[in-house]
Amino acid sequence: MAEENTALTVALTQLKLASRKLKLDSGMHKMLSQPKRSISVSINVRMDNGTVNVFNGVRVQHWDARGPFKGGIRYYPDITLDEVTALAMLMTWKCAIADIPFGGAKGGICVNTKKLSTHELERLTRRYVSLIFEYLGPQKDIPAPDMYTDAQTMSWIMDTYSQLKGYRIPESATGKPVEIGGSWGRTEATGRGVIHCVKQASENNGLKLKGARVVIQGFGNVGFHAAVAAQEIGCKVIAVSDSTGGIFCPDGLNPQDVLQHKEQTKTVQNYKECKNITNEDLLEIECDVLIPAALQNQITHKNADKIKTRMVAEAANGPTTPEADKILYEKEICLIPDILANSGGVIVSYFEWVQNLTREQWPLEKVNQKLEAKMTKAFNDVETIVVREESNMRTGALMLGVGRVANAIKVLGLWP
Ligand code: NAD
Repeated sequence: MAEENTALTVALTQLKLASRKLKLDSGMHKMLSQPKRSISVSINVRMDNGTVNVFNGVRVQHWDARGPFKGGIRYYPDITLDEVTALAMLMTWKCAIADIPFGGAKGGICVNTKKLSTHELERLTRRYVSLIFEYLGPQKDIPAPDMYTDAQTMSWIMDTYSQLKGYRIPESATGKPVEIGGSWGRTEATGRGVIHCVKQASENNGLKLKGARVVIQGFGNVGFHAAVAAQEIGCKVIAVSDSTGGIFCPDGLNPQDVLQHKEQTKTVQNYKECKNITNEDLLEIECDVLIPAALQNQITHKNADKIKTRMVAEAANGPTTPEADKILYEKEICLIPDILANSGGVIVSYFEWVQNLTREQWPLEKVNQKLEAKMTKAFNDVETIVVREESNMRTGALMLGVGRVANAIKVLGLWP
């Protein structure tokens, strides 16, 4: 049967599965299927050449039963409301699995950041914040970075929010530069967290990480830091890619060196004696750990059968379709789902929010220790369900996340 894989159909299929397993009533299932609020805005921006351009932006707030909405803001040319809604839903489950007091949200602007100057990006970001201002705030909804947004974007968001309020409010966004209240370790957190999960799963699966071959799709914030963390624990990163294509180096590559090469040439390709490959080829390389760290819907029924790895750690959100999930499970490939594997970013975002609220700054060692403790706890909580239910890890993680949110909604009751 052909796949109908919009991100939202996938997220709703996953929710249905968890609801059935948890025996949630239909009212609860209906409530969890819909976001609480979706805000669509037109962002008018004066370009450097004096003309005016209009960009479409959204912020979707899914559920806040366990705490304020929390989620990244993505800048990408063809973002849809459906996709952002799905990502907001995943954030709700992710925060619950990590057991941090946040709900789920996601935002996005349809823009190709490579075509805008820094000044244009700043005006775009500030105008977007002004349009959704009343729905943001440290106790309402706290943005963070995602694809093609970074610490600089968060700095503009926090500053715009603070200017409109009239005083400095660092806890209004996370993923900021350290100079203005960002947390040590936030930039690396998602990639490091992915590798914490790989370590845990390897212990259970008997995979030796020393010399294990790691392949990473996407060499942005998450992909690069996952590569560094993998190398730190003795793995060999043999292939990486970005939107222009990939490189394959069977003897292993140095992530810092590849980053420098990418900064100079704008691509990871043509790096030393590595072989240039396509993103499709990269996914089919024989390896021990495959880390998709770019876009959704990368492992589908079309290529799942060709994947030759022992473990998939989903650094990206939604990289594997439900059909591909089944194929990988039948092939006995261990899959660590996105809502667990990439939760390191939101966990350290939570630490940043706590530091800002208390006007403290924790040393890097403390942040990293607390990150490892939180991720280990989340991994073990999921594993307990996996063993009890004899399920795969995605089902176990969904049952944990959806179950915790449903329980919070039950005890809150429905107002009025
Ligand atoms: P980023 O913008 O820093 O990097 C994205 C990378 O993907 C870049 O290397 C880009 O070249 C590459 N890419 C884009 N299109 C591609 C394509 N068609 N094929 C292959 N590569 C392509 O973004 P990021 O923050 O690293 O986010 C990557 C993924 O991780 C996203 O799915 C995001 O939702 C998820 N994620 C990010 C965080 C975070 O803290 N940044 C947290 C959780 C999940």
